[in-house]
Amino acid sequence: MENQIAENIGQVRERIVTAAKRAGRNPKEVTLIAVSKTKPVEMLSAAYAAGERQFGENKVQELCAKFPAMPEDTVWHMIGHLQTNKVRQVIDKAALIHSLDNIKLAQVIQSEAEKRERICDVLLEVNIAGEDSKYGLAPEGVEKFVREITKFDRIHVCGLMTVAPFTQNPEENREYFRQMKRLAVDISAKNIDNVSMKVLSMGMTGDYEIAVEEGATMVRVGTGIFGEREYNIKE
Ligand SMILES: *Cc1c(COP(=O)(O)O)cnc(C)c1O
Repeated sequence: MENQIAENIGQVRERIVTAAKRAGRNPKEVTLIAVSKTKPVEMLSAAYAAGERQFGENKVQELCAKFPAMPEDTVWHMIGHLQTNKVRQVIDKAALIHSLDNIKLAQVIQSEAEKRERICDVLLEVNIAGEDSKYGLAPEGVEKFVREITKFDRIHVCGLMTVAPFTQNPEENREYFRQMKRLAVDISAKNIDNVSMKVLSMGMTGDYEIAVEEGATMVRVGTGIFGEREYNIKE
């Protein structure tokens, strides 16, 4: 198991490098997040032993359970839908929340960050393909949302995140990744206070190479590292 995970990570990293080079990008601009949801700590430890430090979970409860079992320099990403009543538990554990998409959640993040006298780094989740089943802001609403968020001085917007449609043919998602990049560039050009668009979190096992070609700076890979999940809790 340990060898397999190390091998998978090596392979994914290699493919990221190749995809970045294909697009004339510096591979160092791309961070691999190992999505460990539903997987036991033993598997996370194997990934850690293989040099992986960035882990993504989509459930607060699961992130909190694994958090104390991993070394202190593990970097946690909250990549799933976040309920307001769970912010308190995760705000000190997650280095980055990828899924801010409503003002009510922003209000709670602001007040919990204030209590702790800290700044919370977030990405705005965008429902780029307008799928009914997905969370996230409509692309045309992102700029307005960003402007509303500037009043929350404890929230630092670092960029955008999307979960592209599930597809057998990853090429079909290229256009969505392009649209995400365009959106980030457009918003960045407006120079809005306390808003940076440096991070673009997009691409999963089926399509991360294409996401990298189109400008992803974070890819979230689960199955490609840890194997199939027993049950699917994809948001
Ligand atoms: C599960 C999940 C992933 C990883 O999916 P794989 O297809 O297993 O790579 C990435 N992002 C989010 C938000 C997820 O929930």
